Amino acid sequence: MKLIDVHAHIQQHAPEELEGIHSRAEEAGVGAIITAGVTVDDSVRCVELADRHPMLFAGVGVHPTDLSGPLTDDDLTGLDEMASRDAVVVMSEVGIDHQPHVLARPTESGRPWVDVQDEAFRQQIEIAKRQLLPVVFHVREPGDDLDAASAWPVALRIIAETSAGANGGAAHYFQGDIATAGAVLDAGFMVSFARPLLRLKRLQVVAAWLPMERIVLETDSYPQPFKKDRMKWTEPRHLLSVAECLSEVRGISIEEVAERTSENALNMLGAHGDQVRTLLD
Ligand SMILES: [Zn+2]
Repeated sequence: MKLIDVHAHIQQHAPEELEGIHSRAEEAGVGAIITAGVTVDDSVRCVELADRHPMLFAGVGVHPTDLSGPLTDDDLTGLDEMASRDAVVVMSEVGIDHQPHVLARPTESGRPWVDVQDEAFRQQIEIAKRQLLPVVFHVREPGDDLDAASAWPVALRIIAETSAGANGGAAHYFQGDIATAGAVLDAGFMVSFARPLLRLKRLQVVAAWLPMERIVLETDSYPQPFKKDRMKWTEPRHLLSVAECLSEVRGISIEEVAERTSENALNMLGAHGDQVRTLLD
């Protein structure tokens, strides 16, 4: 079975790059890619691309660090309309980001960013619930554990209060500890690993501990012009190295990793997964 990259930002690449990215992904055994928007306009691009490219599916959402203020009525209407489209299979990228430089930006609305992010996350979870979409969410720093100074307790409280796990979803680019992973499972979500799994031994411990049926894989690929060698940019083809790392950590074959993580991703997508399944054989 082929692999599913449950989280990437392919729409941010130059259009002429897409064919190469797709063919390199296919060569590496990737059958489907979910490409997530970070603003309303970026989400529009995701939907347009997913309509045109068979292996691409879309996430729509506004990323916490891309908020320019509270979401407007137009933003919410636009997201809601897009979320009802066939090509849209997840609400993403949404979440909470308390990195100091993000919270320190000037705010036009005068409201603290912590409040603005909280409200936007809740509003987008409500759209996901209405449109029966899984939520693939972002949580970042300071700290990757349940420590009181971390964004995790805030995100988990919102998730609990909104029953965001009703349609499932995943904690994307997971880098937390076992206690955090356990809280993610309890809230009804999968844990999604990306390339940090290759270098972080503490994350490999979490990957060995998790029930196999709750793990999905991703690359979070986006254009990386700060890497001078173009071939070093993370692309969906690198999903294979994440899968290989998981196969070593779990002591199972790469075929079993592909089979099981793709089944998990399809389970996460629910009815939206039917159109993805046909690409995986
Ligand atoms: Zn992302």
